[in-house]
Amino acid sequence: MKWDEFGPWGHRAADWAVDYHRNIRDLPVRAQTQPGDILNALPLSPPEHAEPLEDMFNDFETIIMPGMTHWQHPKFFAYFPTNATPASVLAEYLVTNLTAQCMLWQTSPAATELETRVLDWLRQGMGLPKGFHGVIQDSASGATLAAVMTMRERALNWRGNKDGLAGQKTLRIYASSEVHTSIDRAIWITGIGESNLVRIPIQGPNRAMDPVALEAAIRADIAAGMVPAGVIACVGGTGTGATDDIAAVSKVAKTHDLYLHVDAAWAGNAMVCPEFRDIWAGAEDADSIVFNPYKWIGGQFDGSVHFIRSPEDLTRTLAIQPEYLKTHGKDGVINYSEWSVPLGRRFRALKLWFLIRAYGLEGLRKHIRDNVKWSQDLCARLADTSNFQIVTQPMWSLFTFRYAPAGATDLDELNQRLVDTINDDGRIYITQTRVDGDLAIRFQVGQTETTEQDVKDAYDVIIEIAKGLPV
Ligand SMILES: *Cc1c(COP(=O)(O)O)cnc(C)c1O
Repeated sequence: MKWDEFGPWGHRAADWAVDYHRNIRDLPVRAQTQPGDILNALPLSPPEHAEPLEDMFNDFETIIMPGMTHWQHPKFFAYFPTNATPASVLAEYLVTNLTAQCMLWQTSPAATELETRVLDWLRQGMGLPKGFHGVIQDSASGATLAAVMTMRERALNWRGNKDGLAGQKTLRIYASSEVHTSIDRAIWITGIGESNLVRIPIQGPNRAMDPVALEAAIRADIAAGMVPAGVIACVGGTGTGATDDIAAVSKVAKTHDLYLHVDAAWAGNAMVCPEFRDIWAGAEDADSIVFNPYKWIGGQFDGSVHFIRSPEDLTRTLAIQPEYLKTHGKDGVINYSEWSVPLGRRFRALKLWFLIRAYGLEGLRKHIRDNVKWSQDLCARLADTSNFQIVTQPMWSLFTFRYAPAGATDLDELNQRLVDTINDDGRIYITQTRVDGDLAIRFQVGQTETTEQDVKDAYDVIIEIAKGLPV
C-alpha cells in the first residue's frame, strides 16, 4: 500500500466509524462468539504475496467485528469504561500519522510542552493545588509501579537500584484489602515481595482502610526492625468504589515520613466536579495521584495521568542517561522518559488537549453528573424492587446489587447465572465482583454515549431476565 491510496481508504475508514457509532445500538454489547471462532476463521499461514486492501477491509468487517465487544456501546455497564469521545479519537488519528517517539524534549518539543500544559489544566480542573507536576504514563499500573519504585528508593536512601534488595532491611508497603491488583504487581516487580504488602482492614460504608490499624501496623513493623516505605490509598476501588479517608491516611503517612500514593484510576475523573471532592479531602497532600481519563471523561484509551509532588525523587529513581539520550545544551527542558519505566512514549497529550477544548470542563462535568444521577436513580429503583438487594451503595456511579428471590439456596450461583444470561442476551453488559466473600453484580454508568433512557432500559432487561431464570 502506498500513501496515495491512503486518502480514499482513510475516508472509507472515517465513514465506517460514523456508521459504526450510528448503528452501534443494534449490536450485542459483549461479543457473542465462542472461543476459537475467530482463530479458526484465520488462515494458518501468512500470505506470500500482497493482498488487495478491499479483501482486508471485508475480512475486518466479516471476521473481526463479530468477535469484538463494544466498549463504545451506550449500554456498556461492565468494568469501568474505556471512553473515546470523537474529538479525542480524531487527535489519536493525527498522532498515529505522525508516529513520533516523544521520549525526549528534542524528539518533539511540542509533545513535551503540550503535555506539561494540558496536565496542568487537568490539575486545575480537578481542584488540585499548585505543586503537583503531571506526566502521562502508559497505564495506572505503570504510574503505581513508578510510585512504588520511588518509595523503595527513598526508604533505602537511594541504594536499591544500585545494590539490589539482598541484605537490606525488609521494606513494608501498606494498603487496604480493596486496592487494585496493579498494586500487587508493583510490589512483585520492585522486589519488595507480596508478603510485605500489609493489608490494613477496612471499615465503614466507604470500605476505607482503618487509619488506627494503619498506625498500629507501622509501629509494629518498626519495632520488628522492618522499614515502612509507603502507603497506597484508593479512591474508587474497582470492585465497589471503596475509598480511603485520605486526610486520615495522609496524617499517619506524614507522621512516619512515608510516601503516599493515591490510586484514583476511575474516580479521579469525578473530581472535575467540585461537589465530589470532599470525599478525597487530603489528596492535595499526597506524593502522587493517578487517574485514567479514558475511564470516564472520554480521553481515548490509553494513557494515565500521574500527578507527582517531587519530580526530583521520581527522576532520581528512574532517570538513566546513556550517551545517546543526552540532550546537550538543552538544560532546563523536561525529558519525560526520565519520569516513567518505558523509554518510548507515544504523543498522548494531543487527545487530552482536543478533549478538554472540544467539551470544556463544563461539558466534562455534565457528563459525570448525569451519569452519577442516572446510576443512583437505577439503584433506588432496584432497592424498591422485590427480590433485589443493594449490596454496596453508590460510590459516584458505581453500586452493587444481588438478586435474592425466595427459595433460592445458592445465591452466588444464581447471581453469576443472571450475569451470564444477561451478557449472552447482549442488550446490556454487566460484570460481577465479590463483597465480603459473596458474589454481587456491579453496575456503573460512564460510557460517553449513554443516555438516561439506556440506563432505564437496563432496569427492564435485568428484571425481565431475572424473572425468566429458574431459581
Ligand atoms: C483500572 C484500574 C487500574 C488499572 O489501570 P491500568 O491503566 O489498566 O493499569 C488500577 N486501579 C484502579 C482502581 C482501577 O480501576
